[in-house]
Amino acid sequence: MCNIASERVLMQVPILDLKAQYATYKDEAIQAISEVCESQLFALGPAVAELEEKIAAYCGCKYAIGVSSGTDALLVSLMALEMKPDDEVITTPFTFFSTASSIARLGAKPVFVDVDTGSYNIDPSRIEEKITEKTRVIIPVHLFGQVAQMKPIVGIAKRYNLAVIEDAAQAIGAMQDGIKCGNFGDLGCFSFYPSKNLGGFGDGGLVTTNSETLTEKVKILHDHGQAPQYFYKTIGGNFRLDSIQAAVLTVKLKYLDRWNEKRRQNAAFYDNIFANSPVKVPKIDSNNVSNYYQYTVTVPERDQLQKYLAENKIGSAIFYPKPLHLQDCFSELSYKEGDFPVAERLCKEVLSLPVYPELTTNQIEYVAKTILKFYGID
Ligand SMILES: *Cc1c(COP(=O)(O)O)cnc(C)c1O
Repeated sequence: MCNIASERVLMQVPILDLKAQYATYKDEAIQAISEVCESQLFALGPAVAELEEKIAAYCGCKYAIGVSSGTDALLVSLMALEMKPDDEVITTPFTFFSTASSIARLGAKPVFVDVDTGSYNIDPSRIEEKITEKTRVIIPVHLFGQVAQMKPIVGIAKRYNLAVIEDAAQAIGAMQDGIKCGNFGDLGCFSFYPSKNLGGFGDGGLVTTNSETLTEKVKILHDHGQAPQYFYKTIGGNFRLDSIQAAVLTVKLKYLDRWNEKRRQNAAFYDNIFANSPVKVPKIDSNNVSNYYQYTVTVPERDQLQKYLAENKIGSAIFYPKPLHLQDCFSELSYKEGDFPVAERLCKEVLSLPVYPELTTNQIEYVAKTILKFYGID
């Protein structure tokens, strides 16, 4: 009895609440889907062209090509750069799987560089020592919504004649030196996976670029490599974005800045509350504006804290529990424990807290207070 009563008064805070967000734009989304249905133009239709134009304008870049997922955005970008077996691509081991799997799927070799303790992003000062005559590309990841330090990265790429692909899957709307991500590299890769800051009703992604040549290549490759139809210049894939997804995303794009701002306010609230606690808050570089895809703290007693939060009906998540260089599927690369100490420690200490825009004041206060209570702070 007692248990049931106390459970009832316990507030529930999930790590993400997409239903709460859906309620705010539902009618418009259904209308937009209905219009696509009436047109019956489901593949490469006007809805996709409209989204591409609006995202290019939003990011402040010349071209945008809708694709089937963030993973396929990375894959098709590497294909556009004509990756060959044995080419080397420098990236971070502390990221989602796709960043490295897309490299390996083309027969190229992921070469990892450790991350920076504060930003969790690739450490530019460690890149140069990994460059060989086989290096072709650098893929910085804008992890948790914070842009990697692009000035030094692009500087190194220029000096060694390397291409740069931004993995901006988590970072739509995030800025560095007043410029939105997706503009710093040769290509920018975005994801519309439902949990991302701009999420579709299924899978979707997009490639940005300021290069006309690369735009042509990505366009041809994302539709089997045909140009014109049924005449194949190269072997591409079916990496097209669905019109229904595009229509929903065009509706949601109008709200993105508001949602990102709300996430920043929530992050500032946590930053403030955790200032004099053992909780290490995410460090945003002074030239960056994060979109806080995740609000990720580090604590040595991470697993106990996560358990305590779960007992108090608070959702949290571990991004990521194992660095990519230690994954079974990359054992051929012969990395070992100790190769990237910062990434390895982060995998043991990171915890992402609810930061989604629809969190109520009561909910966020409850999360913060519960964490302080865990540390015996009132
Ligand atoms: C989500 C994500 C991807 C892949 O995007 P999908 O749309 O899920 O394929 C790639 N890289 C990073 C860093 C991501 O977070």
